[in-house]
Amino acid sequence: MDLYELTIAGAMEKMRAGEISSVELTQSCLDRIEQVEGSVRAFITLDQEGALERAQVADAMRRSGRDGLLCGIPLTVKDLLCTKGMRTTCGSKILENFIPPYDATVVERLKAQGGVLLGKVAMDEFAMGSTSESCAFKIPQNPWKMGYVAGGSSGGSAAAVAAGECLASLGSDTGGSIRQPASLCGIVGLKPTYGRVSRYGLVAFASSLDQVGPLCRDVRDCALMLNVIGGYDPRDSTSVHREMPDYSSALVEDVRGLRVGIPKEYFVEGLDPEVEGVVRKGINVLREAGAEIVDVSLPHTDYCVAVYYLIAPAEASSNLARYDGVHYGIRDMNADSLIAMYKDTRSVGFGAEVKRRILIGTYALSSGYYDAYYKKASQVRTMILQDFQKAYEKCDVLISPVTPTPAWKMGENIDDPLAVYLSDILTISANLAGIPGMSVPGGFSRDGLPIGIQLQGPHFREDTLLRVAYTLERGIGVAGCAKVC
Ligand code: GLN
Repeated sequence: MDLYELTIAGAMEKMRAGEISSVELTQSCLDRIEQVEGSVRAFITLDQEGALERAQVADAMRRSGRDGLLCGIPLTVKDLLCTKGMRTTCGSKILENFIPPYDATVVERLKAQGGVLLGKVAMDEFAMGSTSESCAFKIPQNPWKMGYVAGGSSGGSAAAVAAGECLASLGSDTGGSIRQPASLCGIVGLKPTYGRVSRYGLVAFASSLDQVGPLCRDVRDCALMLNVIGGYDPRDSTSVHREMPDYSSALVEDVRGLRVGIPKEYFVEGLDPEVEGVVRKGINVLREAGAEIVDVSLPHTDYCVAVYYLIAPAEASSNLARYDGVHYGIRDMNADSLIAMYKDTRSVGFGAEVKRRILIGTYALSSGYYDAYYKKASQVRTMILQDFQKAYEKCDVLISPVTPTPAWKMGENIDDPLAVYLSDILTISANLAGIPGMSVPGGFSRDGLPIGIQLQGPHFREDTLLRVAYTLERGIGVAGCAKVC
């Protein structure tokens, strides 16, 4: 086994026992990057020298008896989390040259625990998409099968973790962007409850939906990462002042008496039979482990795509108004007036999908339409939340597929945004309701593509999700690193 294949927990054990150093571990990831990055294409910015220096510092910290939770662990973060002195592009030409003067709180917390940042990974432009194909710089491939998408928008995070280029990564999830790429790449992804993790320094897409979370190779690592990044942050007014449990202690292989709900609306027409088969097997693992399986209904599921694709673009159109060529990023220098400069900068800087969302969002928020669209969508959003609240009277956790199909071929849906939007149907409700969700590897399709299982729980019950995920993982096994061929 090569060092880059270790989990965080496994690597920490070896480093603490003095068997390996962080420099060796980091070098193993850098060699792996050298070997596979030409195919995987996950990195927008790779900082080899800086990483090795940070690894040396981590080794020195450990020798002097100071040992953080991630001391010496090679990590990456999605390129929409601000990193002091390191370019943060959001996958967009408009921020091609943006170097933040500060770290996002989550990045600060990784560093404070001794995490070794290798670089910044690819994503759909401003996190808008489900395949990472709208990234202006690099489009990751699925490490399990070349020519297939890694998912999105945190596709670079998922691909890098699955390929062994880093041990774990941070992504963001506005409508499924952690869970979906995790599912398509055979790793574990966790979207925490809205408010659990600070978003200070996360470049905003849709502020009422965005959350930061980890992508890891197993459930234990996910719990550890959440321990590091979670908790109140006075710099983010949406982060919640609420005690945080030690998520690692939720890792017990015991679901006896736990009620696991199957939402019937998530097993609909169009669901790939192989995906359904994998989820049904997962349900059996839990049943055999003593969980009680109950049928539940989330009757407003049908509306979630329409509601999300109104609320998210509306908020995005407002958030992205700041990219005008004045404060950040590129600027058109040839324009002869201020308005022309704004126009040219935005025309050149944004890609097609981002422009589409800004147009939809601006339209939906314009006077005379606000009540018909944004307000209506917000009302239906409340009904979607109430569906979950009712379901959680009957069960402790929901189990379902993450996506209707395994990863599709690159370019397959590039001219059909609606088909891509519809594929988000199983993940976006969690964001609309603000509840936590997870994707756990469930198996592979006949074509060798990973298929994940989704767990969703009540607000702030990440501990229950982790416990169920851990039991599933024990029953099913981890996918490990992809060979990349
Ligand atoms: N696929 C969804 C979208 O395009 C979700 C993206 C996300 O979670 N960032 O908006």
